[in-house]
Amino acid sequence: MNPDFKPEITVVIPIYNEQAGLQSLFDRLYPALDKLGTTYEIVFVNDGSRDNSVSFLAEQFRLRPDVTRVVLFNGNYGQHMAILAGFEASRGDIMITLDADLQNPPEEIGNLVAKIREGYDYVGSIRRKRQDSAWRTYASKAMNQVREKITNIKITDQGNMLRAYGRNVIDLVNQCGEVNTFVPALAYRFARKPTEIIVEHEERAAGESKYSLYSLIRLNFDLVTGFSLVPLQFFSMFGILLSLASGLLVFVLLVRRLFLGAEAEGLFTLFAIAFFFMGTILFGIGLLGEYVGRIFQQVRARPRYVVQTILEQKPGQSLDLPAGVEKRTVGRGHD
Ligand code: UDP
Ligand code: MG
Repeated sequence: MNPDFKPEITVVIPIYNEQAGLQSLFDRLYPALDKLGTTYEIVFVNDGSRDNSVSFLAEQFRLRPDVTRVVLFNGNYGQHMAILAGFEASRGDIMITLDADLQNPPEEIGNLVAKIREGYDYVGSIRRKRQDSAWRTYASKAMNQVREKITNIKITDQGNMLRAYGRNVIDLVNQCGEVNTFVPALAYRFARKPTEIIVEHEERAAGESKYSLYSLIRLNFDLVTGFSLVPLQFFSMFGILLSLASGLLVFVLLVRRLFLGAEAEGLFTLFAIAFFFMGTILFGIGLLGEYVGRIFQQVRARPRYVVQTILEQKPGQSLDLPAGVEKRTVGRGHD
């Protein structure tokens, strides 16, 4: 693809160990985009896959070099960093993000694009019926409500990555150097005219979710700490209330001591209260740590991700792959 060529649409797809489903993704994605009858490019960002994904991507690049670009990271930096790298490499006016696992049907891209053409610069999406495990769906709903209350970001369905952004939003996102972030929320911040549409959601086509419970908790902390100070303020408020209440308790105990004499009842109630507060204090310290740790990562100012290579067609260049990018070899096993 000629680097000066500016397509109307850029589709950004993060890839992490998705070899099992990539072929079916290509089989649906390219026809869906071709059908739109406009210019487009697809930017795949390989987030340090340890399986054969890179070979599939390289092969696909060879087949459709006119509309395909592949950004290769040198390691795993997470889905949101991969999307940001895709944004930086993108040239389209309308940016679409999509998961690689076909949970977001590529056929919906046309509807997102139509909304952007109507003049919106952020099109979120709400899954008509979410096809994930029950606990994920439930926990995600609960988190959605917490986020809605403590940040001023209005996203109905935060977990869904099938979204469209206008160029004005992406240019601003590209100026941010945030290390731990949540792309839809960051982009929402910069949107002048956001809207949402309802989309289909499918079960993962192949492979399994790349998010463990631990990484989901981390991601939600990124979202909350990145966009709100309310959790910290909540602890300050709670501390103030607690100091007032314990002052009152001291006063009551003092009065009882003077009028009723020494008492030592209710020992276990005291334990229960003490443990509850110890738990609360530990949680508070942990929460502080989440913010401080992120500040630390940010001030170290290391590169957020390292791009090893970008596979793209340059004018007059043959399509030989750069050294280090393996060709697909039959029978090569998983790592
Ligand atoms: N992904 C990524 N890096 C990671 C984890 C995930 O690029 O460290 C990609 C993954 O390949 C997929 C998308 O992010 O395209 C969403 O991941 P997944 O489908 O596993 O998440 P879920 O649908 O379970 O939330
Ligand atoms: Mg998925």
